[in-house]
Amino acid sequence: MHTVELIERKRNGEEIQADALREFVAGYVRDEIPDYQAAALLMAVFFQGLTSAETYAMTDAMVASGERVDLAARLGRRVVDKHSTGGVGDKITIAVAPVVAACGVPFGKMSGRGLGHTGGTLDKLESIPGFRVELTTDELVAQTREIGIAVAGQTANLVPADKKLYALRDVTATIDENSLIAASIMSKKIAGGASAVVLDVKVGEGAFKRTAEDARELAREMRALGEEAGMDVVCLLTDMDQPHGHAVGNALEVREARELVSGNGPSDCRELVVDEATQLLALSDLGVDEAEGRRRVESVLDDGSALATYDRWVRAQGGDPDPARLPVAPVIRPVAAPASGYVREVWAKEVALAAKELGAGREVAGQPIDHAVGVVCNAKRGDPVERGEAIAEIHAREEAGAEAAEARLLAAYEIGDEPEPRPLVLDVIR
Ligand code: URA
Repeated sequence: MHTVELIERKRNGEEIQADALREFVAGYVRDEIPDYQAAALLMAVFFQGLTSAETYAMTDAMVASGERVDLAARLGRRVVDKHSTGGVGDKITIAVAPVVAACGVPFGKMSGRGLGHTGGTLDKLESIPGFRVELTTDELVAQTREIGIAVAGQTANLVPADKKLYALRDVTATIDENSLIAASIMSKKIAGGASAVVLDVKVGEGAFKRTAEDARELAREMRALGEEAGMDVVCLLTDMDQPHGHAVGNALEVREARELVSGNGPSDCRELVVDEATQLLALSDLGVDEAEGRRRVESVLDDGSALATYDRWVRAQGGDPDPARLPVAPVIRPVAAPASGYVREVWAKEVALAAKELGAGREVAGQPIDHAVGVVCNAKRGDPVERGEAIAEIHAREEAGAEAAEARLLAAYEIGDEPEPRPLVLDVIR
């Protein structure tokens, strides 16, 4: 089928044959289909969605676009992995990985870059001086075997289709479609060869999924794809109305992630790190239940072994784990509370856009980012604040950028009466 016919069919809401979708994915990866046609198809999918059969065919074709690593077979162990659908201040992977590895469970993972307003683990890791995210498959396997942990970008030969489509979706406003998200995430999980995966499905103003119902639907699509591939999948639905922790911006988040693995850091992030690592331990080959998993996770966070594993991991990938070596922005401007009261909301998307405009994210694919800049939200939902108190801090390259970010941040904060507490983990779907 000609690509234009394919686009037309989807635009008209008709189903596309599995073979035609497979040909499209393969052709796009071989550069035989131009970006403008792929973008048109993505936009048609955005409006019309994909059926289960189409989502399966698309995922399968994406996996087949590159090599598939059987990590479990190569390591002779069950390998666990986690993935977030995209959040703001979401540094959870950087903390969960060493926690799980410190508990003796191999953690091998392929991560992505920032997408839309959300940040990406690879961009965050690259703010660490010397950190190398491009590992070959053999390096990924060897490092997971030797130190129990490896986090890498999609190597040229692992799901190249997602690498291209992900970058195109990022700049064509076609991210937020369940089947595309499910195919993108699960193709990487399947090709990466993990035996079990915990999926952190973000819900709320700063997430691609605004409602719990929509997020549940995405979770179900991803679980179905994982189960079809023989993988155990647990999904956590987590609140993304406000950023996770305080820091939003690459180096700032790495610094906060390191605090978390040292047993400190913001309590909301600690809760997520503990919950996700507990689920991963329960899915591992350690043979522990959730209660014992939680006990072990808390113990490695508090006895320094998660931190030691983090430092070993960063060094293994060429980086310097000393937080003092992370880049620092030249301009730091406090944002004063415009009124006294309680913080009712810290709208995550506004905060993310402030960080992005400062240079922490990209406007077009491949654009370099500024690892030092970002925002620190000192005050979070439920905190009492006094007028004039520094509720946030802007880390900028120059004064002009800091000024624009201040307006955005003031729009992100709602101050008023004390809000009702809201849970961070909204649901666990097994
Ligand atoms: N994370 C991914 O890897 N892909 C998406 O489409 C969204 C979040």
